[in-house]
Amino acid sequence: MTMTTNSPALELRKLSFQYPNGRMALDQVSCSLAAGERVAVVGPSGAGKSTLLMHLNGLLPAPSLTADDQAQVFVQSLPVIKSRLGEVRRQIGFLFQDPDDQLFCPTVREDVAFGPLNLGLPRSEVFRRVDHSLVAVGLPEHGPRNPSQLSTGERKRVCLAGILACEPAMLVLDEPTSNLDPRARRQLLQILGQFPGTQVIATHDLDFVLDHCHRVLVLDGGKLHADGPVERVLSNAILMDRHGLEVPWRLRHRSPSELDR
Ligand code: ADP
Repeated sequence: MTMTTNSPALELRKLSFQYPNGRMALDQVSCSLAAGERVAVVGPSGAGKSTLLMHLNGLLPAPSLTADDQAQVFVQSLPVIKSRLGEVRRQIGFLFQDPDDQLFCPTVREDVAFGPLNLGLPRSEVFRRVDHSLVAVGLPEHGPRNPSQLSTGERKRVCLAGILACEPAMLVLDEPTSNLDPRARRQLLQILGQFPGTQVIATHDLDFVLDHCHRVLVLDGGKLHADGPVERVLSNAILMDRHGLEVPWRLRHRSPSELDR
């Protein structure tokens, strides 16, 4: 599941994007992620976080994106351009903020099977993956249930089961902990902690970033303002304040030498 080569798992090369109404949502964002890195994207509302995530699997491709040398995003070295979108999307498991955008089958089992069936896998392999993923997300008994009758946390876990069943190299998660109670949040953290591949996570939940991520990108006004280890970046009170964020309570009153540990 994880890449073994030294090539980046994800590369953004001066990624810029303007919505049709003229709004510049991303402005020359560059970064490179190693395989297995868990990277949070933080910033105030409207910073460009969702727009950035949507570029990773070509949900918002620029119309001119037809040739390799025009690509601004590379996933597992694949250029995110129209002709390669099928391959790119097989590498990525995308968790939308609202599970209702992702669940549409009458039963949990069918929803989880949808992705692997679309990959053209034999039915026996699909069933094996569905069983395995439902166990991984702690919902082994929920297969016959209707997703609409589950809690938000359970529905998010069903979405994750469907994603894990496709065995992607990378997870891209938009606000995974929003609307979750503390127990559901903890369960989600545990599932994500067991996923060995690369993770890119847009979130306002800075405690989640502290607990789960290795690195954090601060985005504001479509520009990348910081990129570094989680504790270093999140403890920078001036930076946090400038971009509408707050130093997490756990990092306040700690000396720089403590943060280096
Ligand atoms: P975030 O996820 O950080 O809240 P977004 O990526 O949703 O930010 O939005 C970035 C900017 O692009 C914002 O100014 C937002 O208003 C604008 N925007 C988002 N979606 C659209 C759209 N469909 N059309 C025009 N502007 C948009």
